[in-house]
Amino acid sequence: MTDHYDVVIVGTGAGGGTLASVLAQAGRRILLLERGDFLTRELPNWDPEQVFVDGRYISPDTWYDADGRPFQPQVHYFVGGATKMYGAALYRLRPADFGEIQHADGPSPAWPLGYDEFEPWYTKAEWLYQVHGAHGQDPTEGHWSRQYPWPAVSHEPRIQQIADTLAGAGYHPFHAPCGVLLDEADRPFSACIRCDTCDGFPCLVHAKSDAEVIAVRPVLDRPNVTLLVNAEVQRLETDASGATVTGVVVSRGGSAETYSGDIVVVSAGAANSARILLRSASDRHPAGLANGSDQVGRNYMFHNSNAVIALDKEPNDTVFQKTLGLNDFYFAGDGRPWPLGNIQMIGKSNAAAMRGEEPALTKLAPNFSLEDVAKHAVDFWLTTEDIPRPDNRVTVDGDGQIHLACRPSNAAEASALYGELRKIMNHIGIAAHHVLDKNFYLHMGIPIAGVAHQAGTCRFGADPASSVLDPNCKAHELDNLYVVDSSFMPSIGAVNPALTVMANAIRVGEHLAGRTA
Ligand SMILES: Cc1cc2nc3c(=O)[nH]c(=O)nc-3n(C[C@H](O)[C@H](O)[C@H](O)COP(=O)(O)OP(=O)(O)OC[C@H]3O[C@@H](n4cnc5c(N)ncnc54)[C@H](O)[C@@H]3O)c2cc1C
Repeated sequence: MTDHYDVVIVGTGAGGGTLASVLAQAGRRILLLERGDFLTRELPNWDPEQVFVDGRYISPDTWYDADGRPFQPQVHYFVGGATKMYGAALYRLRPADFGEIQHADGPSPAWPLGYDEFEPWYTKAEWLYQVHGAHGQDPTEGHWSRQYPWPAVSHEPRIQQIADTLAGAGYHPFHAPCGVLLDEADRPFSACIRCDTCDGFPCLVHAKSDAEVIAVRPVLDRPNVTLLVNAEVQRLETDASGATVTGVVVSRGGSAETYSGDIVVVSAGAANSARILLRSASDRHPAGLANGSDQVGRNYMFHNSNAVIALDKEPNDTVFQKTLGLNDFYFAGDGRPWPLGNIQMIGKSNAAAMRGEEPALTKLAPNFSLEDVAKHAVDFWLTTEDIPRPDNRVTVDGDGQIHLACRPSNAAEASALYGELRKIMNHIGIAAHHVLDKNFYLHMGIPIAGVAHQAGTCRFGADPASSVLDPNCKAHELDNLYVVDSSFMPSIGAVNPALTVMANAIRVGEHLAGRTA
């Protein structure tokens, strides 16, 4: 096997997988190094007990909190990364998210580029990931240069009723953008059957637009693409000047191997990308690679989210529930001093998962059995922005293990958003006291372990003193090192992050295709 490539990419998730798709089609010789393997298609993919209770697809990592206590993070090391398990809600940030926004707990900083500059790549990402949606319904969204490739996924009857009632009460519900492969005519196998297992499950029939299905698999038979699985990158080596990465050291099959590329891209997810850079400390980079500014690992963000079950009087027969979104409280205004965030529907509750994770739910609602709770549940996901704080950070210890210090922000905003949801309940005929926390999703009961929306540990910016990456996502201090995953985000907004990671990967991919031409 040749050991030198045009581009070596570490990680195959939303960032690395999407980047590989762009560079492979541009004809560059790329090596993909993925710590995990392909996620096996098997019946347990859709078994809530195996997925949620037994944690079948959670990787057996141990991380440590700020006090050195071990915990198991909700990470998924597979070809496709976290997108194998994601809910495929593929939202754009709002234009205002690219500027500075004042929050209850401080400012969310501006990006080095604006929404209008970023917009073309959002459109490309929506088309690559075959998103279903309807631009023009949500008054908070920015301009779009092209409509979604597929029409919005239709609401089932109960969700349509909720949308109609909310619209009648003066709210602005919209069809949520969904990355599912619903064009059955073209896809005899990879066709979405509108089951209830997008959120938190792998898709057994490969009908979810994840990074493996959409970005990595389609380029694997090209002669210019090499993928090594079960290949965990340990550290990066540089030349004597410290300006160029010359070696990517990998642990594979019990031995160490070294690969090289004209360009090296780290896309291992926000925590693991920081880990790789910090573990690559050397004489030239004593605090870790690209870390002269002491910013690598800092500004870790995770959404301040709440999963909520509203108990309807009538059974809720909806199967594919995540078709509705609401951004009426996204910004400050109308008497709200702060932005509150986004409300969307999530996958339908099921008794098996609740039984394993949250037996306390029955105590909160003594008139309902868990089966009743699941049958009558209308499930919402509330997202409030978490602001970047320097002390919320990833560090590594002498053994290279991840330590994560994380204190969530904007609790007052999250609580006000919850209050707005309770008001909405009155409109849709659900008593406010029939709203319960649904903490089992993403293990929100153990907040630090819920790292699904991790971001921000290598943020991009124009100023090398306050950022790790330049606006092209190249490390300020090195000539050929890039970071292309959720690490680059200077702020996370209050919508799901994956589409922004994908769009940025296409943007940087086009830059790298030009640079390596
Ligand atoms: C249950 C769940 C639901 C979610 N739902 C949504 C949603 O509906 N919408 C949304 O926008 N986002 C959602 N997300 C978040 C979304 O999946 C992430 O934001 C996105 O995948 C981040 O992309 P990334 O490239 O930064 O990391 P990842 O996609 O995680 O990719 C990182 C890759 O690097 C690999 N890797 C790690 N360390 C190494 C190493 N040392 N060597 C080699 N490879 C390595 C990993 O195995 C992985 O393949 C969800 C996530 C989860 C877990």
